[in-house]
Amino acid sequence: MDVDYFVRNDRVWVGTTSRKPVGAVKACSGVTAEDSYSGFSVCTYTGDSSQHTDACVEELARAIDAKCVVMPRQVHGTEIAVLDNSEMLDNSEMLDNSEMLDNCEMLEARIADGAPCVMLGEADGVVTNLKGIAIGVNTADCVPVVVTDEEAGVVAAIHAGWRGAVAHIIGEGVKAMGSLGASPVRMKAYIAPCIHVCCFEVGEEVASQFPEDCVVRPSESAGDKTGSGIKPHVDLVKFVTKELNAAGIATDRITIHPDCTRCNPVRYFSARALGIASGRNFTFVILKNQ
Ligand SMILES: [Zn+2]
Repeated sequence: MDVDYFVRNDRVWVGTTSRKPVGAVKACSGVTAEDSYSGFSVCTYTGDSSQHTDACVEELARAIDAKCVVMPRQVHGTEIAVLDNSEMLDNSEMLDNSEMLDNCEMLEARIADGAPCVMLGEADGVVTNLKGIAIGVNTADCVPVVVTDEEAGVVAAIHAGWRGAVAHIIGEGVKAMGSLGASPVRMKAYIAPCIHVCCFEVGEEVASQFPEDCVVRPSESAGDKTGSGIKPHVDLVKFVTKELNAAGIATDRITIHPDCTRCNPVRYFSARALGIASGRNFTFVILKNQ
């Protein structure tokens, strides 16, 4: 397992997993760009074996000292699950109480028997103020975003694919954090590896849903002087940054990982490179005890 940490202090850890470590020696560990599931992945619902994902969850939980790892079943919507009651995590029956999760149904709870993974119902973001619980989202090109208010002790992990992004899931996530006492002026945001403008080629029907300053038209792209035959590219990272700004988080409080997943399919899972039935990169946040 290899984690890129954005933050690792007394209050909070924020990180994102990659398929394998960087470096010539470790590069020989068997991960290939062509094998959809080779490498580290905790995603339980995209076709990987549960034996593999269970082992990866346990490895991650140990590495970050998490009581459990919580992830939603993502559906490209805007639902945010709010976990603010530790009894939910001590009592699996309470995980079935949808009212406690802001209408997000729990499908499965597996805390017992040494499998420290809690699979939420359908949602595309998780917010919590519980310490020692890792929350995260699984992506392979979509934009994973973590938002923290360290002072309030409230954090969010949000999956922003293009559909969720244009439906303003970022604003929904920040609003849900506010319900637990967080304030945008204190928040910091982290955008983990995802598809960048270099590779996010889309049809006009998708491009037209974004503001023009987030779209690169064929005539503007290098090497195409004709303006025909090449599709537009969308800058999802720029759009998500603007959404964070609109939610009240200043640009100088936003950290963007430089890597494009599609450009690096050996280091990261990429749906465009591998298909949607593949492993996922996991971007998480955990509140520590300070
Ligand atoms: Zn790229």
